[in-house]
Amino acid sequence: MQFFNIVNEGVKSLSPYQAGKPIEELERELGIQNIIKLASNENPFGFPESAKQAIINQFDDLTRYPDSNGFELKSTIAKKFNLQSNQITLGNGSNDLLELFAHTFACDKDEIIYSQYAFIVYPLVTKAINAVACEIPAKNWGHDLEGFLAAINEKTKLIFIANPNNPTGNFLSQAEIEAFLAKVPSNVIVVLDEAYTEFTSVEERIDSFGLLAKYPNLIVSRSLSKAYGLAGLRIGYAVSNPEIADLLNRVRQPFNCNSLALASAIAVMNDDDFVQKVAKNNRLEMARYEAFCQANGLDYIPSKGNFITIDFKRPAAPIYEALLREGVIVRPIAGYGMPNHLRVSIGLPEENDRFFTALLKVLV
Ligand SMILES: *Cc1c(COP(=O)(O)O)cnc(C)c1O
Repeated sequence: MQFFNIVNEGVKSLSPYQAGKPIEELERELGIQNIIKLASNENPFGFPESAKQAIINQFDDLTRYPDSNGFELKSTIAKKFNLQSNQITLGNGSNDLLELFAHTFACDKDEIIYSQYAFIVYPLVTKAINAVACEIPAKNWGHDLEGFLAAINEKTKLIFIANPNNPTGNFLSQAEIEAFLAKVPSNVIVVLDEAYTEFTSVEERIDSFGLLAKYPNLIVSRSLSKAYGLAGLRIGYAVSNPEIADLLNRVRQPFNCNSLALASAIAVMNDDDFVQKVAKNNRLEMARYEAFCQANGLDYIPSKGNFITIDFKRPAAPIYEALLREGVIVRPIAGYGMPNHLRVSIGLPEENDRFFTALLKVLV
């Protein structure tokens, strides 16, 4: 049996997802210790104490199914951002939500628009349902929203925008997003994926929830994997108009978010000190990365995320390999069509120092 022949055409075009290399794997391969991983945009401060306590308190109740409606977490999110609980959909990480949007609003032969160099989960979920991927060529590594508008037709169901985008770090302003939304037909769903929004400064941050009243076709997606430090637990949330949330919640698996994830998410959503500490470190250390690149003649894409993408102007794979031998894991992004770049997650000051030293060593 050739099972490949029985899957839909979209699935045939998928390649396996390339995750960041786990520390344990590199330890096994090279037999070295003191490895640092700056490869998956994880939180360098580790798991928040507030979430640890919430998990301990939850231990006794793990025999029961989690609350399928996530009542308490939704209430916490609603209170924090002045929303209604019926606008919220919870996901097993925001990747789960991205897939849910595609499943809910598109199917075979429908068109889904996203940018070249945009987050790799958009092509993944598009192809998995055999929808047509409309990948718009990037402008300066970022979204060409004029190109998006030109690509919209009667088959278009969904548009994905990552802001800031991963792996490029590009950022669209409130004015750009609003001008775009004003021109998108109201029966086309626009997903604004804000997995990194907590790293933007308060002045430049988009009031995405504020746009929902005017643009009912907008869905805002957020993650607790990055600034909140819960990547291993898998939890994210979407905010939309209540009718959309109702549809999403019908398609969603009833127990897609586990009890430990729900409990710790409630704790960290109330832990502003943690997120502020994380964002501050990112701001200060990002400035050091930029200064380092400038001082050493390295080209980089200015980033509003918790990572920076460096252009080596030549194949980056050997540099990646050499960094591994120094015990530093970063992320090759050839899978995004960027073979000359490496994406480096902003770490703690001492981790970043190690990266700077290792890079200078392997570049000579
Ligand atoms: C990391 C990331 C996500 C979030 O993933 P989770 O499933 O919430 O861990 C979503 N969108 C983008 C652009 C990302 O980089």
